[in-house]
Amino acid sequence: MANTKVLIVGAGPTGLTAANELARLGVQVKIIDKTSVRSEKSRAIGVHAGTLESLENSFGKDFCRKLIGAGHKVRTAFLHVYSKAPIRVDLGVIPSVYNFVLILPQSKTEQLLEEELNKSSIYVDRNTEWASLREVDGKVLSILRDRQGHQTEVTSDFVIGADGAHSAIRNALHLPFRGDAYKLEFIQGDVEIEWPWPYGDIRSFLSSKGFLACFPLSSNGSGNGSGKRKGNGDYRLVMVQPNKADSRATKVSLNDFAAAVKSICPEIRIKRETWLSRYSVHHRITNRLRCGRVFLAGDAAHVHSPIGGQGMNTGMQEALNLSFKLATVICKEAPLSLLEHYESECLPVAKDILRATDLATRFGLASNHRINDFAKSFVVPLMAKNKWIRQAVIKGISRVSIARKEIDNRSREKP
Ligand SMILES: Cc1cc2nc3c(=O)[nH]c(=O)nc-3n(C[C@H](O)[C@H](O)[C@H](O)COP(=O)(O)OP(=O)(O)OC[C@H]3O[C@@H](n4cnc5c(N)ncnc54)[C@H](O)[C@@H]3O)c2cc1C
Repeated sequence: MANTKVLIVGAGPTGLTAANELARLGVQVKIIDKTSVRSEKSRAIGVHAGTLESLENSFGKDFCRKLIGAGHKVRTAFLHVYSKAPIRVDLGVIPSVYNFVLILPQSKTEQLLEEELNKSSIYVDRNTEWASLREVDGKVLSILRDRQGHQTEVTSDFVIGADGAHSAIRNALHLPFRGDAYKLEFIQGDVEIEWPWPYGDIRSFLSSKGFLACFPLSSNGSGNGSGKRKGNGDYRLVMVQPNKADSRATKVSLNDFAAAVKSICPEIRIKRETWLSRYSVHHRITNRLRCGRVFLAGDAAHVHSPIGGQGMNTGMQEALNLSFKLATVICKEAPLSLLEHYESECLPVAKDILRATDLATRFGLASNHRINDFAKSFVVPLMAKNKWIRQAVIKGISRVSIARKEIDNRSREKP
C-alpha cells in the first residue's frame, strides 16, 4: 500500500496548482488523473491579475514571466452595442503590476504548471482513476483503479478532490451540487479572422441577433498594436444562443458558425478554424468544501457561466489557499482547526462569483427581448457614460482584492 501526505485527484489547473504549492512547501504529494494525456483543448483563456499576483507570491516572478511569455497581454476592450460608437474599456485601471488580462489557452497553463511540478520530480500518475475512500485511524484510505481495472490502495493524511464538475469525490461525500442549467448554449470557435479593427483588443458585439465576444489568442496578428491598421489573426469567438433540444447531437459546422457570427457582426470574415464547440452551461455550487480530511476545490465545488472568465482562476486561487493551510498543518504542526478557514474564506468568494456571473449571464445574454431592450436602453448607456462603473466591473473581474486578502491571511496563518 502506498503512503503520501496529500493525495490530489485531478490534474487540471486546480490540482496542478495545489501540487506545485504543496511541493514547494515541502509536503509529500501524489497527483493522479484518469486521462492518459493532458487535454489539448484551449478552454479557459483568461488569466486575471489577481491570479498572477497569487502565483507570483507562491511560485515567484519567473513563473509568472513564463506564463506571460507564452500568452498575450490585453489592455483594452471595446463594447459595440447596436452599431453605436464602441465603448472603450481601459484594463490599465486594474490596480496591479499585472494591469491586463493575460490570454493564455488553458492547455498551455496546464503544461507550464505540469513542467513546474516536474522540476520537483513529481509526475502526474495518469490512467489512474480515483474510485472510493474511507477514513481509517485519522488517515484516508483511497482505492485507485488503472485502465485494466486493477485496484491499488493509497493512504494519505488528506485528499484534495480537484476532479472537475462531475466530481466522483463530491458524490462519494454525498454533497449536494445545487443549481441549474441555463436555457442557453455557448457556441465558440478558435478561428482566424479578418476585420476592420486593429488586432489585439477584446471586442464584444451586442445586436438584436445576439451577443458575440472576441478574444485575441496570440500576439501574431497583423495590425497588432498599431491602433490604426485593420487586423487579422487568431481569435476566440464566443456566441450565446437559446438552447435547442437537439443541439447536443449536432456538431457546429464552420458555415453555420460563420453565418451566425456575420448576423451579429457583418464585418467579421472567418478564414480558418482550429476548434469549434458547443456546450451548455450550468451554475451549481456545493455547500461544503471540507468533510473531515477530504477537501473539494475548483470545478468539483462550483461551476458557473464563462462570462468574466472566473472558473479556472477561482480554482487556482482556492488551490493556493488550501495548500498553504495543509502545509502549515503538516509541516509546522499548526492545529487542524486552521483548515476550517479554507471553507469559511473560499466558499463565500465562490458564492459571490456565482451570483455575479449568473446575473451577468441572465441579464446581458437573455434571449428575452424585454431584458435585451432594458440592457440596450438603460444599462449600456449608463456604462458608456460612467467610467467609474466600468472601472468597478473591471476591478472585480481582475480578482486583485481576492488575491491580496488571501496573501494577507497567509502572513497571519504562519505559526
Ligand atoms: C469550452 C470551455 C470554455 C471555458 N472557458 C473558460 C474561460 O474562458 N475562463 C475560465 O476561467 N474558465 C473557463 N472554463 C472553465 C474552466 O475550463 C474550468 O473552470 C477549469 O478547467 C476547472 O479546473 P479544475 O482543475 O477544477 O477541473 P478540470 O479542468 O475539469 O480538471 C479535472 C481533472 O480531474 C480528472 N478527473 C476527473 N475525475 C477523476 C477521477 N475519478 N480520478 C482521477 N482523475 C479524475 C479529469 O480528467 C481532469 O483532468 C471553460 C470550460 C470549457 C469546457
